[in-house]
Amino acid sequence: MAKKLDKLKVLVVEDSKVAIKAITGYLEDVGVYPQIAETGRAAIELYRNERPDIILLDIILPDTDGFEVAKEIRRLQNQDDWTAIIFLSVMSKDEDLVRGIEAGGDDYLMKPVGRVVLQAKVRAMYRLVQMQRALVKLTGQLNEANGELQRLSTTDGLTGIANRRMFDESLDREWRRCSRLKKSLSVILFDVDFFKKYNDKYGHQAGDECLKLVAKEVARTAPRPGDLAARYGGEEFVLILAETDQEGACWVAELVRQNLSALNIPHGESGHNHVTISCGVSSVVPGDELSMEKLVKSADIALYIAKEHGRNRVEYLEYGQGD
Ligand code: GH3
Ligand code: MG
Ligand code: MG
Ligand code: MG
Repeated sequence: MAKKLDKLKVLVVEDSKVAIKAITGYLEDVGVYPQIAETGRAAIELYRNERPDIILLDIILPDTDGFEVAKEIRRLQNQDDWTAIIFLSVMSKDEDLVRGIEAGGDDYLMKPVGRVVLQAKVRAMYRLVQMQRALVKLTGQLNEANGELQRLSTTDGLTGIANRRMFDESLDREWRRCSRLKKSLSVILFDVDFFKKYNDKYGHQAGDECLKLVAKEVARTAPRPGDLAARYGGEEFVLILAETDQEGACWVAELVRQNLSALNIPHGESGHNHVTISCGVSSVVPGDELSMEKLVKSADIALYIAKEHGRNRVEYLEYGQGD
């Protein structure tokens, strides 16, 4: 008794009752109870609903030919499921074999089909189906791992927002995009006021929690596709605002400053009894003779001025000024 191939879904596409009977018998011997389609249309319908592992496909059918059925099945199949197609034909011309393979077939059986050869081929295809399934599973795991790796390499571990690397990439992209569009690009740098004192008083862990809240607040105000909120480093955050000019960027910076104050995170040493931030803003319409480094530098100097002027405020500096 041959080894059973249970759980294998086989579709037999055949219009001859005699052939159906013989093939069905051979398959049942190895524990496979096939579904039968007597026309091309029925075959495609069954394929759609059942996604069989193996299709034994007659070439000459009442409504169409097997090559067309194979092509249609290959068209319908998505990346994750693979069905082995074995053509059945009385024709013994080599061209039929070539056509069958070109139409998406995997193997070929001459009719009348003999028991031993049919069972051996189905067994071989079953092995391929299993390998294919393992491959699909592995590919899925690999894609997942790659996605996670991608996420980790662009995300800041503490706050979950974009990291410095992602910021650099986005700035580069938005710089070129705004340059093409001849639109303003703005950068806002945020720095938590007296954060060293916060850590000293409430502990480093509370400091971390505070940074998470600040990150969330900064990220909340960057919802447009060209915008990016990132952790610039330490207790500094940055917003890229594409297609946004001085007025818009200062408005956003002020909004973040106010919203953060409104969170009312206690900070006895800040001069306001709650955590505050200082913001430096700079904007420019990017061009070939200008540099994004200089734009960030200008925002950084604006931030320094905000600190100098008493913190908890927004300062703007024209591109290229102050250095
Ligand atoms: P200023 O108002 O001038 O910005 O004063 P400051 O104390 O905030 O500035 P300073 O740059 O002296 O201190 C920044 C502090 O931020 C020091 C550092 O320990 C703290 N810090 C940086 N990264 C982290 C972090 O990931 N977690 C915590 N808890 N603290 C951090
Ligand atoms: Mg036929
Ligand atoms: Mg700082
Ligand atoms: Mg600070």
